[in-house]
Amino acid sequence: MPQPNRRVLVRSIDDISIEEVPAPLPGDNELLVRSTVIGICGSDTHAALGHHPFIDLPYRPGHEVVGVVTATGEGAEHFAPGTRVIVEPNLYCGTCPQCLSGRYNICRQLQVFGCQTPGGMADLFTIPADRVHRVPEAMSDLQAALVEPLATPVHAVAKAGDLTGRTVAVLGAGPIGLLVLAAARHAGAARIVVTDLLDAKRERAVRLGADGALQADAAGLAAEAHAVLDGPADVVFDCVAREQSMAQAIDLVAKGGRIIVVGVGAPGPTPIRLDLVQDREIRIEGTLMYTADDYRAALGLIASGAVDTDAIITATYPLEDADQAFAASLAPEHVKVLITVAAA
Ligand SMILES: [Zn+2]
Ligand SMILES: [Zn+2]
Repeated sequence: MPQPNRRVLVRSIDDISIEEVPAPLPGDNELLVRSTVIGICGSDTHAALGHHPFIDLPYRPGHEVVGVVTATGEGAEHFAPGTRVIVEPNLYCGTCPQCLSGRYNICRQLQVFGCQTPGGMADLFTIPADRVHRVPEAMSDLQAALVEPLATPVHAVAKAGDLTGRTVAVLGAGPIGLLVLAAARHAGAARIVVTDLLDAKRERAVRLGADGALQADAAGLAAEAHAVLDGPADVVFDCVAREQSMAQAIDLVAKGGRIIVVGVGAPGPTPIRLDLVQDREIRIEGTLMYTADDYRAALGLIASGAVDTDAIITATYPLEDADQAFAASLAPEHVKVLITVAAA
């Protein structure tokens, strides 16, 4: 008898439904995975609102996926059924110059599982066996669901160079901002200031170890931030990526410092003070996703307890309530909203 397979279909933020589709069969070198926990990403709510530059509606989400291998295709038998895995969702070509240099996160033909292809917000899905990592025994499925969201900050922090003893500003205290905070601290940053518009998010940032959390639209933001950091920031992580946050990043960063653009910018041009970028030798660098090294580092970070996963995960919903889960993840009081799938 065919296994039931429910899959979430997003037509818009107001039209999120469950479609019944046939259970897929694993092809060569593929795994059939039963989902257990799926995270909702900022990019998912962005896409559902019709604002994501690279995700077209309708789409079938689920790129932050934890599950259990239930069957293997030919060539993937090294994964025993029952193995818990997390998906590393970047699907790359392996032959372009970026892939050949090891930077497959910026593959010329990059597709993201659950963004440009149907994802894992479903009972069952198939995935190439080289696109999953094993979940360590001691790690819960809920904790494992934070590996993907943490891998992006881990990659961004690696781009900032050696942070030992450095000062850092993090603009935006959503899930990515808070995980940048954790990753930067773990990388040795001496002082970290976080900004956000919302009181609750600033309070959470302080609970999670920020040395100060400032109101993002305060008139004297730069002076306040410099007071917390004892000077300008060596590195600014812009997890907002709008005109205002980039202007603040340039105000906050030290001469010769770096601005790492982590957030997904609005489509189209964003004005920046190029005169100051030039005069102060500011380096502005984008960062996209991660590679397997970042994934392994994120796994290690969560396994070590360096990330307060309980403070990051603020709600869980069953798969059938995916619409409510999307609504919750838009609410400012939530950080990470997860969908859980009961074992069939
Ligand atoms: Zn994501
Ligand atoms: Zn490639």
